[in-house]
Amino acid sequence: MIVIKFILLLALVAAPAIARRSSGMQNAGQCLLNFQTPDHIILAVQWPPGVCHTSRRRCKSSLNQFTIHGAWPNYREGSGPAFCCGQPFHESLVGEQRPQLQTKWQTLFPGSSSSFWKHEWEKHGTCAKSPMFRGQQSYFNQTLSLFDKLDLLSWLQESGITARQANDGTYDAPSFQQAIEKHINGKRIRIDCKRSRKQRESVFVGVHICYDPVTLDFTDCVVKKSSCGQLKFIAPFISRQMDESRHGAKVSKERRRI
Ligand code: 5GP
Repeated sequence: MIVIKFILLLALVAAPAIARRSSGMQNAGQCLLNFQTPDHIILAVQWPPGVCHTSRRRCKSSLNQFTIHGAWPNYREGSGPAFCCGQPFHESLVGEQRPQLQTKWQTLFPGSSSSFWKHEWEKHGTCAKSPMFRGQQSYFNQTLSLFDKLDLLSWLQESGITARQANDGTYDAPSFQQAIEKHINGKRIRIDCKRSRKQRESVFVGVHICYDPVTLDFTDCVVKKSSCGQLKFIAPFISRQMDESRHGAKVSKERRRI
């Protein structure tokens, strides 16, 4: 009986918070109103073949480019504010940015990229209060502009690091990290890996690059513990059947890697 009462109480307390997080509601009282000014912005960039290789969802594994995951205001202790009070996402404000967003900030998963932008704006963009990022249009413009200055694939290639077939060799995380850091004033980045479901290997899925929110200078990211040791940098699929699932759906025989 005590256990049941405890569960009911927990549900009562947790339900509004869960609902708020999943819907991204921006009503007064349900969004984060007062919070400390974040001290850096994380630009989270994803590597689609890696994300898809470690996901069960249908996924665009053929993309041969880094894409944007989001720009996240953050604190030095490691976390950041989310779902702050601000304007809800307005599709009409996307305007001229649309073609750029559709390639550089496209969703890798089924559904519209615009729902992904809405989520990123409402969860993270609303908490980016520095002048350079304030407001939906500035948030997306500024993020695109930071992303455009990164030439990650070339930087990696310069250090002899290229994406390879899933069953090919691995790279060690520090050399991967240094290949990028030397182009951003030696500031610390975070490389992100996930375990592949089948081989249980550490697969590179993306990188975090950090900026001062006012000057937009590169700054050190907070890296408490890296998720990568030896990592696989997986090459994209070339496939006639685009957007097929890496897992689950039938794998076309015509599919091959580059
Ligand atoms: P986050 O909360 O980490 O900022 O964003 C993750 C959310 O965005 C998840 O709900 C995920 O399903 C959704 N999403 C939509 N498209 C993408 C994508 O291309 N990459 C990632 N990582 N998440 C995406």
